[in-house]
Amino acid sequence: MVDNLTKDQRSKNMSRIRSKNTKPEMIVRKKLHSLGYRYRLHKKELPGKPDIFLKKFNLAIFVNGCFWHQHGCKKTSKPKSNKNYWTEKLKKNVIKDKKNKKTLLNMGFNVLTMWECEIVKNGETLEKFIIKKFKNYHLN
Ligand SMILES: [Zn+2]
Repeated sequence: MVDNLTKDQRSKNMSRIRSKNTKPEMIVRKKLHSLGYRYRLHKKELPGKPDIFLKKFNLAIFVNGCFWHQHGCKKTSKPKSNKNYWTEKLKKNVIKDKKNKKTLLNMGFNVLTMWECEIVKNGETLEKFIIKKFKNYHLN
């Protein structure tokens, strides 16, 4: 592979990508915490290791990156190089997501998927979004 990045530049790029990917999850976690919700993280005994788990609502939350989980929004477009590789890889992710969700539902859990593009930086917007999404679970 030929590229013009030095090792240093590349690792800088990689770390930027990594931190960017965890950001939506951090935003949701902070918001949930400030709203008084208590949760567990990455419960590894559950299918798909949900990012956030709220025992009170029996609720597993996945905070999905739009690209990696192929949301279908503007952020979803595939890289132009290695198209076949990406198509296969991302298809597998989507299939895995569906399977995990189905298994969780069959086990009696509630499942909520939050998409990167839905998680707005503006705190109040996210707050409204969470409250709206959680309304169903409060009624149980
Ligand atoms: Zn999206």
